[in-house]
Amino acid sequence: MADTTTGPSPVAEQWEWQFEGLCRTVSPELFFHPEGERGSARRRRDERAKRLCLECPVLQQCRSHALSAREPYGVWGAMTEEERAAILADADIKPPATRVADTSEPGRNTA
Ligand code: SF4
Repeated sequence: MADTTTGPSPVAEQWEWQFEGLCRTVSPELFFHPEGERGSARRRRDERAKRLCLECPVLQQCRSHALSAREPYGVWGAMTEEERAAILADADIKPPATRVADTSEPGRNTA
């Protein structure tokens, strides 16, 4: 018989935090830029969305989700698309904490 006490949590639990998001109280257009929006109009809309996020009771869950899911569009957890991309790019290029010598080929890393 299959062990049902382990494994991934039910999908509903993974998304439950979203029901508490303050973004549910406003138009999605505040968080997702319309086609062709650029410059100061986009910056002002993003800043308004981010200010709402900073008051949100699920800010941390939202940030974690947005980064781990690599959400490509919109403001999530008080971060714009560009801010998330910069954080992820920085995380991608950081070297591992410890490097292990490659000894898979004889004669390598024997200095
Ligand atoms: S942090 Fe912002 S995007 Fe995330 S749930 Fe809250 S209001 Fe919505």
